[in-house]
Amino acid sequence: MKSNASVVIIGGGIIGTSIAFNLAKLGVKDVVVFEKSYISSGSTGRCGGGIRQQWTSPMNVRLAMRSVELFKRFKEDVGMDIEYYQGGYLLLAYDEKEMADFENNVKIQKNEGLDVELVTPKEIHEKFPFMDLEGVVGGTWCPSDGHANPQIANIAYALKIKEMGVDLNTHTEVKGIDVQNGKIVGVETDKGYVKTNVVVNAAGGFSHEVGKMAGVDIPTYSERHQILVTEAINHVLDPMVISFKKNYYVRQTMHGSFIMGQSDKEPARGNDLGHTVEFLEEMAPKMVHDFPFMNHLHIVRQWSGAYNVSPDAQPIIDEADNISRFIFAVGFSGHGFMLAPAVGEAVAEMVVYGKSKTMDISNLKMERFKGKKISKERNVV
Ligand SMILES: Cc1cc2nc3c(=O)[nH]c(=O)nc-3n(C[C@H](O)[C@H](O)[C@H](O)COP(=O)(O)OP(=O)(O)OC[C@H]3O[C@@H](n4cnc5c(N)ncnc54)[C@H](O)[C@@H]3O)c2cc1C
Repeated sequence: MKSNASVVIIGGGIIGTSIAFNLAKLGVKDVVVFEKSYISSGSTGRCGGGIRQQWTSPMNVRLAMRSVELFKRFKEDVGMDIEYYQGGYLLLAYDEKEMADFENNVKIQKNEGLDVELVTPKEIHEKFPFMDLEGVVGGTWCPSDGHANPQIANIAYALKIKEMGVDLNTHTEVKGIDVQNGKIVGVETDKGYVKTNVVVNAAGGFSHEVGKMAGVDIPTYSERHQILVTEAINHVLDPMVISFKKNYYVRQTMHGSFIMGQSDKEPARGNDLGHTVEFLEEMAPKMVHDFPFMNHLHIVRQWSGAYNVSPDAQPIIDEADNISRFIFAVGFSGHGFMLAPAVGEAVAEMVVYGKSKTMDISNLKMERFKGKKISKERNVV
């Protein structure tokens, strides 16, 4: 472990490693990453892997669209096949009100330049005849959405940053951030102290706790979300399918298994990652109804992970007001994996140039919550 760092990144998930990758690309030397467990032990290694650009907030659409550009070049840039597959995303509407919202969302998305369309039940049936569309009144379809393997993506970044000279320390927990007169001077870990003037909080489910280490109250909290995987069958399902009304998402992996999840009615807060039988009892019948071919499919494993939730379900990317060079990239809720390439690029630019150059992300600052009406991202499961 180094004793001096130009930048310390706390968290070796997809966000922390993407930021480190982009810093190294910009030529920053002596970058140090601390990960308290193994790579992909956090939400990244537990997530669904969906990569969707169909959001209701224009900022989320823009970040996702930039990420898709970067996911397309991931193998070339980062050096590993992450099973990236642009099979599209199908969003299902179950009543006229939901369909009217979808029409409005498509306008927002098209305005950002996204190739997305409204689809009728007949068109959905023609594309995906194996689905039971009872109750579906329409949907939206974006062919350039898709999915990838999040564990491999996290590991790919980790291996690449090591090759680029980043000092990646796994099983090393940050215990404190040393601040003197409003300036960061170092970071205390369970393996020793490192001097630095720049810290990036990419601690995922622990972003609030890491903020507190420097005396910054970041309005994020963790929420448990459950997910499962089935046995594998031959490839049948190209897109990721979502229903907000029925509360599910599902995709088929390259290996042939299906990964699917929903939100609990009252998701447990905190980082307790247990799971329940109720989750299985609720998921199984609705999936078998909408995808009758799943009737005899066995569930292989269930687990859970944390959404790190912000008040508007959009990321908080900012630098603290009262502490110089304490930067955070947190609060990704259920969509941090898909935004990671663009966020890594933007945060690295913030570190090096004082602000993001490729994209204007200034409306992701924490000040958006101060006394203002919060406009929430609605396309979430
Ligand atoms: C069930 C589920 C399904 C999801 N599905 C999707 C999806 O389909 N698409 C999508 O885009 N997103 C999805 N997400 C969200 C996505 O997983 C997260 O937004 C994303 O992984 C966040 O990445 P991260 O790097 O911020 O966090 P993490 O991957 O959690 O990484 C943060 C790391 O920081 C480390 N850390 C914390 N505190 C310290 C400390 N003090 N010292 C050192 N290290 C520390 C942790 O150990 C952790 O490894 C899903 C999440 C869940 C739980």
